[in-house]
Formats: sequence, structure tokens, C-alpha cells
Amino acid sequence: MNTQLQTPIDYLKGVGPNRADLLRKELGIHTYQDLINLFPNRYLDRTKYHKIGHLQRNDADVQIIGTITGLKEVSQKRGKRLVAKFKDESGVMELIWFRSHKWIKESIKINTPYVVFGKTNWYNGMFSIAHPELELLKEHKANLRTAMQPIYPSTEKLSNKGITNRVMGKIMQQLFVETNGRFYETMPKYVLENLKLIGKSEALLNVHFPKSPELLAASKRRLKFEELFYIQLQLILKNLIHKSKIKGFQFTAVGDYFNTFYKSHLPFNLTNAQKRVLKEIRQDLGSNAQMNRLLQGDVGSGKTIVALMSMLMGLDNGFQCCLMAPTEILSVQHYNGLLELCKPLNINIKILTGSTKTSNRRIIHEQLETGELQILIGTHAVLEDKVKFKNLGLAIIDEQHRFGVAQRSKLWKKNKVPPHILVMTATPIPRTLAMSVYGDLDISVIDELPPGRRPIKTVHRYDSNRLNVFKFIREEITKGRQVYVVYPLIQESEKMDYKDLMDGYESISRDFPMPNYQISIVHGKMKPADKEFEMERFIKGETQIMVATTVIEVGVNVPNASVMIIESAERFGLSQLHQLRGRVGRGAEQSYCILMTSHKLSEDSKTRLQTMVKTNDGFEIAEVDLKLRGPGDLMGTQQSGVLLLKIADIIKDKDILEYARHTAKEVLQKDPSLSLKENEVILHTYRQLMKYRNIWNYIS
Ligand code: ADP
Ligand code: MG
Repeated sequence: MNTQLQTPIDYLKGVGPNRADLLRKELGIHTYQDLINLFPNRYLDRTKYHKIGHLQRNDADVQIIGTITGLKEVSQKRGKRLVAKFKDESGVMELIWFRSHKWIKESIKINTPYVVFGKTNWYNGMFSIAHPELELLKEHKANLRTAMQPIYPSTEKLSNKGITNRVMGKIMQQLFVETNGRFYETMPKYVLENLKLIGKSEALLNVHFPKSPELLAASKRRLKFEELFYIQLQLILKNLIHKSKIKGFQFTAVGDYFNTFYKSHLPFNLTNAQKRVLKEIRQDLGSNAQMNRLLQGDVGSGKTIVALMSMLMGLDNGFQCCLMAPTEILSVQHYNGLLELCKPLNINIKILTGSTKTSNRRIIHEQLETGELQILIGTHAVLEDKVKFKNLGLAIIDEQHRFGVAQRSKLWKKNKVPPHILVMTATPIPRTLAMSVYGDLDISVIDELPPGRRPIKTVHRYDSNRLNVFKFIREEITKGRQVYVVYPLIQESEKMDYKDLMDGYESISRDFPMPNYQISIVHGKMKPADKEFEMERFIKGETQIMVATTVIEVGVNVPNASVMIIESAERFGLSQLHQLRGRVGRGAEQSYCILMTSHKLSEDSKTRLQTMVKTNDGFEIAEVDLKLRGPGDLMGTQQSGVLLLKIADIIKDKDILEYARHTAKEVLQKDPSLSLKENEVILHTYRQLMKYRNIWNYIS
């Protein structure tokens, strides 16, 4: 790595203290190195202009010449938005600003030719661009146009203070002058050759000043690979170090509990996937390293039995185990289920939640400390400091996305030696994302449903079709089935949502009157005991319809329920819809999911609904979800740093990520300490990255 690249940005000709300050504060650019790694967000073909009348719905960035004929402010939920009518000789469209329009309102010149660019949206029969970049045609003409003009990341403050994209380009040019455009090669020759990657200097030059589309593509590929490679290298190293340093309890024996259960009390044959995963867990528990494993399995794939059998391995070795779930309902359900399964084994199992009575709580605390209590099921209450185990050997967390990293580490501290940890989730995380987010966890996947399940039939119906839907419900109930009707509950509009829920409940009560029909209702505002009572009635089959908010989203298991109606389905995210649908299809009967919506649907909502209708595959759904929302919104990934990637994109560059991970693994397999001559540059680059802490941003 060139030491010159560690020079503070102030020293670059044309920057100076004021600009340096802005670059530091706004973009985190401290050194030459940071600047060279400021990659363009995109490239514009500035030699092409679009006409409003010929815009296509899937046009990305467009550049249009026209005039603003009028401005108006429109009230919205929070504040106002500014809308400008923008026209050329072929048509009219809108320019929209949702924020900070005072400055824009005052500077816009009416009826003066502008060049506008940005990404178009199609809404209510009209094209629009939100937060467009605006340039007076006169000024626009004075600049040279290229077919691949880099557009650098920027902020409002930067452009206000005159550091425009053009200035940025000049600064970048100066950097290449001062460094002669020669940069340290960070990948070994054999990797470059094997993967046909171009050299570092050529890649940097062409990403900032593309000579041809082909060279630009090759440059991006090379730089993305490098970025992902070093992240993967670090994750894998971290995992290796973790395994060699952190000793865990070694579960050497497979004993009576496990064997007796397996031979005599298993209520069904395990699927091959369940067997495989159990083997993986068994291997971890039998090694003397602490297990940190993520178990992914679609809803209904049978994670619970895997959890139980893992805990039995713990008991066989004289350890206590605990299973945590995110909600009271789910904990209770786990407790009842496991109690039933464990009955013949004579195991001491108890449940601890927020509503456990003080007297019971005291017994639990006591028995945990003496070691008498073998399996503890519960909610977050299990994490409280007062809860002390004699020897917690294995902790299982169900539905991980409701728990944060902080809770995981709290569990760690329950013992002097950290317990083995198994995290289970039904929100499938696409493999690529899991690789980069949970690099420190090992991953097991149950990719097979128990036999005999019929795929759930999913349809989309408009509210105007409600009568037919009710008729269908009636038929299913006559056949002896049960039905869920779920309403959205979003915090911001909580009041409205409760009203919707209650209105819905009333209308259903009218159409399904007692005594022929019994209806349960469950929502977040009820006392836990009432909730449980209502749930129990439904589980026992005393009620045929369960009207609920999303409290039932996670885990609830009523195999006789065969219809899931989701009201205002357009308001749910994809993973939530999939979770909800997973509540049915648990028995042998054909199950149905009906997505109810109004006629007014955004493009994204339509995509979500179509995806649900098209597939039952949680992984496929997760991929679409990731595409729609971007990785930042996925639960639990916020702190993981996937968003801090400089050039690669976890979703779009999936293939490169896989190559990078594969290559990093190969390198480390052959040379775990990176001491071979051929890997010298890797070791050097890695040390530099650590030293300048760039990479830590990604990870911690
Ligand atoms: P999830 O992975 O969503 O937690 P569960 O563990 O609740 O799924 O299992 C869903 C249902 O499938 C339960 O009723 C369970 O008893 C049943 N089940 C699990 N594994 C099998 C299997 N191998 N064969 C048949 N049924 C199974
Ligand atoms: Mg479950």
C-alpha cells in the first residue's frame, strides 16, 4: 500500500482546509486513500436527452430539457411537499421535493429552460421525478458531455458549499496527477490470473475515468471482488480464531434421554434435512469449541423437534438447557408442546415469562440454581439477572429476528464458560446476505418440509369480493376447519388499526352468528391471561374463527386451521405475509391463504402480492423482499454494516460475493496463517486494513 495514500486530504492541491473539513464531515474522507475509494454511485450518459412524451415506465435515469411552468405546495402527513409542473414540447410531468423546499422554492426560475435529471416514477397516470438534479440549460451547455460521466455520492451541504459533482471530478483528477495513477496491487497474481481480474491501478483509473464501457465493467468487477474478498477473509478468520480460542462444554455422550426419545417416543420420522441438521449440531456440541449456530428453516419445517433433541443431548451430559421465544403465546405453546413430548422421559421442564406468578418464580429460581430444573422455556424474562443457572449448557433462541445481538451476548454471560447457542429463524435470510451478515455464525438449513404437506393455495381478492370470501369460509367451517382473519397493526396508526380490527370483528360476528359459530379475538392490548384463554379456545377447536392482529404471526401451531385471511394485505411486508401464511398448511388438509386488498395498490404492493400468489418458497420470497427493500431494512441487519460497502452491492453482486467467499476460503484452507510467499500481498493488505480500521467498520 502506498504510504502516500495516508496523506491528509488537506494537502491535495485544490482542496485546502475548508473543503477538507467538508469532505471529512460530509463524506468521511480524511486521506488520499479515502478519496480514491469514493466510488461513483452511477454514470450518466450526458450526451442523451429524453422527451417527456416518450418516457417508459422502466426508464432509470433520464435527462430532459424543459421549463418549469408552475409550483405548488401540497399538504401531506408530515409537512408539505413541493410540486413543480415541468414540460417540454412533448408532454408534462411533475418534479417533487418532500423536504427542504424553501431553498428550492426561492431559487427556481419559472419559464426558464432547465436540464433535469433523476429517476422517474409512474404514479396515478403521471411521470414524476423526486428530488431531481436541476441545472439551467445555459450552464449545462458550457460543460463537456461524456457518455459515462461519474456521479459521486454527495450531500446537500456539499453542493450548497460549491463542491458540486464537477468539482469532485476535478479533485479526483488532481489525485491521479499527484500519485501518477500508480497504486499498490492488493491481490496476488495467481488470483488475478485465475479469475481474470484486471490490475488495481487500471481498475481505479477506469472506475473514475472510464475509457470504455467494457473497461468500466471490468474495473467494477475487480474492485467489488477485492472489497468482498477482504470482508470474507476477515469473517472466516474471526470464525477460525473463535473456534480455536473459545472453549465450550464438550457434550461427549449421547445418552439415555436422547436415545430413548429417538427410539421410542419420536412421534414421526425425521426428515432427511432434520437428520442432517441434528448431525451438524451434534458435531458442534461434541467438539470442545463453543457452538454458535444459526438454524434456518421455513415455517412448518419442524425446527422445534430439532431444538428438543439438541436439548436432550445437553441433559444427557448433565447440563441444563433453555429455549427462548419472543412472545408469551409462543413460549406457552412451546412449553405445552415440549411437556407433552417429554412426558415419558420424566424431565423437569418449567416456563418463565413476564406473567409468571412470584411464588412460581421463586421455585424456578431455586431449582435453576440447584440444577433440579432441567429445561427452562420462556420469553425475555429468562435473561433477567436474577435468573441464574447451575450449569447452562445450551441456549436456544427461537425466531431470532425478534432478539438482538445484545441478548445473544447476555446469554453468553450466564455461565463462566459460555453455553452453546442455537439461534432458530423462520425468516429465511438469502444465503448471500447470511454469509456476510452472520459470518460469525455457522449456518444449518432445513430445506425440506415434512411429508404429506400440500402447498398452500394463495389468492388475491379485492374487498368488493368479500361476500364470496365469506361464503368460502362458511364452506370450510362446515367441513370442520378453522379460519384465521388477520388485521395489520402499525404503531403509527394504532388507533385506526384497532378500529379496523373491531369493525372487522363486528362484521364477521354478524355474518357468522352464535351459536352456530364461535369466534376468538386476540390483539396486543389484551391482558396475557385473556389472550391465552382466547388462544386456547381456538387451539382446542372450541372456536372456528380467530380474529387477530399480527400477534399470531410467529410460530403458533394449530394444524386444523386451514384458511388464513389477511386483511389490508397491501400493508404487510413480504416476510410478514409469508410468516402469517405459515400458520396454515400444517395439517394434511388443503389450506388456503386469501390476501384481501382495496383496488388502490402501489407497484411494490402488486409485486408483493404477485410473489405470494406465485410461490410458497420462503427463500424465493426473501430474495424478492431483499430486492424491494434493500438490505438495510431487513431485521437485525442494521448494525451489521452490509450497507457500508463502498462499491459492491450484496444483492446485485451475489455472484461476485460467492466467488470472493470461495476464494477466501481456499486461500485460508491452504495457508491459514497467510505465510506463503504467494499470499504476501494478502497478509500485507489485510494488516493495513486492520491498522487503518477500515474493515472494522464493516464488522463491528
Ligand atoms: P417450525 O419450523 O415452523 O417451528 P414446527 O417445529 O412447529 O415448525 O413444526 C410444524 C409441525 O410439523 C408440527 O406440528 C410438528 O409436529 C410437525 N413436524 C415436524 N417435523 C415433522 C416430521 N419430520 N414429520 C411430520 N411432522 C413433523
Ligand atoms: Mg417454530
